[in-house]
Amino acid sequence: MLLRNVPKEVLLADGKKYYMVNNYTYSFKYGTEQGYQWRCTSSSGCNAFIVMNGRNQLLRVSGTHAHDPPKYHVVKDGRYVQIET
Ligand SMILES: [Zn+2]
Repeated sequence: MLLRNVPKEVLLADGKKYYMVNNYTYSFKYGTEQGYQWRCTSSSGCNAFIVMNGRNQLLRVSGTHAHDPPKYHVVKDGRYVQIET
């Protein structure tokens, strides 16, 4: 079953690719038989993650963020730069 949320692809200025769901961003962790797991990009030890299938459709959102969503600004070429807080 697919979740209705569509992960938004976010390209960072340094070339990394994240996906954004509900303003939180996720970086690739690993692929499993169930799909591709992407974990929260927070450095605060957050264990929230999402699972997407090979077509970048959202299968699962797991965990709770005990922190605010990261803030980004978008630079000229459409890439994202995280604003340090
Ligand atoms: Zn988090």
